[in-house]
Amino acid sequence: KAKAAGRNTLMFFNPAMAEEMLERHEIEVDLRKACEDGTLELYYQPILDLRTGEIVSREALMRWQHPTRGMVSAGLFIPVAEQSGLIAAIGDWAIRQACKDAASWESHVGVSVNVSPLQFREPRRIVETVKDALIASGLNSRRLTLEVTESLLIEDNKTTLGVIDELRTLGVTFALDDFGTGYSSLAYLSTYPFAQVKIDQSFTRTVHSSEASKAIIEAVCQLARRLSMNVVVEGIETEQQRIAVQLLGAQRAQGYLFGRPEPLANFLPRKDRNVA
Ligand code: C2E
Ligand code: MG
Ligand code: MG
Ligand code: MG
Repeated sequence: KAKAAGRNTLMFFNPAMAEEMLERHEIEVDLRKACEDGTLELYYQPILDLRTGEIVSREALMRWQHPTRGMVSAGLFIPVAEQSGLIAAIGDWAIRQACKDAASWESHVGVSVNVSPLQFREPRRIVETVKDALIASGLNSRRLTLEVTESLLIEDNKTTLGVIDELRTLGVTFALDDFGTGYSSLAYLSTYPFAQVKIDQSFTRTVHSSEASKAIIEAVCQLARRLSMNVVVEGIETEQQRIAVQLLGAQRAQGYLFGRPEPLANFLPRKDRNVA
């Protein structure tokens, strides 16, 4: 926070900040343990084709069964993992686990894994991790999508494109996540070889109250179609939102209306459950 305030601002250290720092530190210590004792889990949320109503893919979302805090959502601990460097190990684990899990479900259903920009700072590592995960799981590489955010594209350059290209050669596809929340340069969509763009849930939430949200969803869907990318609209919670985004041209959707993130065991066919 102090950094964001700019270098000419004098920030006083107040009790709220001290508490926040302590909490971060505590989360970091616990998270380091969690990496070792296997209390991190992947939950999966379905992504549907709006025309057919079928599940086409599932997004892996990390959860942490914390000893005292209960189930902690990724939004809370991923930033801590990024700041502490733990994201490299956690990110590797997520890729391997998601490939293994996806290999146990319907063979026509893909899997999407979120990847932190920091994981691209070790280009060899992420490429090797993905290769190993595909081989170890036997998952067809075409079923794997890696989700990245715009912050990755702002920092780089050649290394990022190199990693993306190398992984695409293997058959892996890329999705641009949370589109519309960052710099959202339309140029990213043509510069980088994304197969998918995910429109952020903030547009879904305001689809009925804001003409701008409607216009943006519609424009991104049209552009994506011209560039042969598919669009996923995130955060669909109501039937009215589903109808609205479908009319605006969305092909795919994700959100609580269709399913919350759930552990693998909840949706795996019964006969497969004990092998997972
Ligand atoms: P994301 O990739 O944009 O994931 C979507 C987030 O929206 C998830 O939050 C999901 O639980 C939530 N969500 C889905 N449908 C709805 C809905 O209908 N309404 C509302 N209000 N929310 C919905 P979650 O699981 O807390 O994850 C937050 C973020 O943390 C993710 O955003 C992603 O950027 C990051 N993340 C999650 N798992 C991983 C991971 O394994 N690795 C990395 N690097 N980041 C991860
Ligand atoms: Mg995502
Ligand atoms: Mg998103
Ligand atoms: Mg997000």
